[in-house]
Amino acid sequence: MIFNGNQLANSILQTLRVTSKIKPKLGICLVGDSPASKSYVNRKLKACQEINVDAELFNFSENVEQDQLIKHIQSMNHDGILVQLPLPLHLNKLDIIHSIPYEKDVDCLHMHNLQRILVYGELCEMLPCTPAAVLQILDYYDVNVIGKKVTVIGRSFLVGLPLSVLLQKRNATVTVCHRETLNLDQHIMNADIVISAAGHPKLVRNVKQGAIVIDVGISQGEQKGRIVGDVDFDVVKNQASLITPVPGGVGPMTVCMLMRNLCNIWKKKQGQPVYINPKLSDAYLND
Ligand code: ADP
Repeated sequence: MIFNGNQLANSILQTLRVTSKIKPKLGICLVGDSPASKSYVNRKLKACQEINVDAELFNFSENVEQDQLIKHIQSMNHDGILVQLPLPLHLNKLDIIHSIPYEKDVDCLHMHNLQRILVYGELCEMLPCTPAAVLQILDYYDVNVIGKKVTVIGRSFLVGLPLSVLLQKRNATVTVCHRETLNLDQHIMNADIVISAAGHPKLVRNVKQGAIVIDVGISQGEQKGRIVGDVDFDVVKNQASLITPVPGGVGPMTVCMLMRNLCNIWKKKQGQPVYINPKLSDAYLND
């Protein structure tokens, strides 16, 4: 089965639509004019329109100084704030992320928010968007990960690391692979579920028959302007019981989870109940 990310993302966005007169406002800081970053930002702006929330884009030049950017972030009065990554090398990504007040950190990358994930997992009202997207896809297909062997490829603080924690909290048996992992193919073949977030085309060439394969990778394809995932899709689609394509798989779901975080920030501010995954069992926080 091939997952259709646009379809599910659109139906979730419908449920997030804001109908109140006063609505949340997202502030986006974009540095430079990389076409890829611009296109991601445009998708986020479009999603804001779709759920009827306000968004404001601040575009800085490629050589903006760190202090100037941080001062700007500190002056923003938006409900949710995000800085589009990657940033030029002269900027300190972590210092910039940490200049966002953690309760407005809609990407959920501030160390305070990541620490909360370690302790409370999915009980947090904000989750890192790509890991949340992966979990949402698993839930959509009622995939129960308890006791299953899940191989996560990549350990970045954006995707692999928080995702591996969240899967452990769901009682999966998680193997985290990275650049230095020996016998990667063995870890892939061994897994019931493979989640690849390395940004390396054709890294996943074969999986166990019937495995679930979630492709989080994004790289430039051989054809200019074409993006590809980490999975050799044409081969692996014949082995997997469920596979996500690139583009049109995890990507649209990630934007959708960003919108959910923004809505939850807003709901919390208004004293309304926030969205928490209804499928979590009572045993969720046992370890
Ligand atoms: P993202 O933040 O989108 O996950 P990064 O580039 O920050 O992307 O992280 C990529 C991750 O993928 C790193 O943890 C790295 O170790 C892992 N990785 C990169 N190349 C390979 C590879 N060939 N095999 C296994 N893991 C890899």
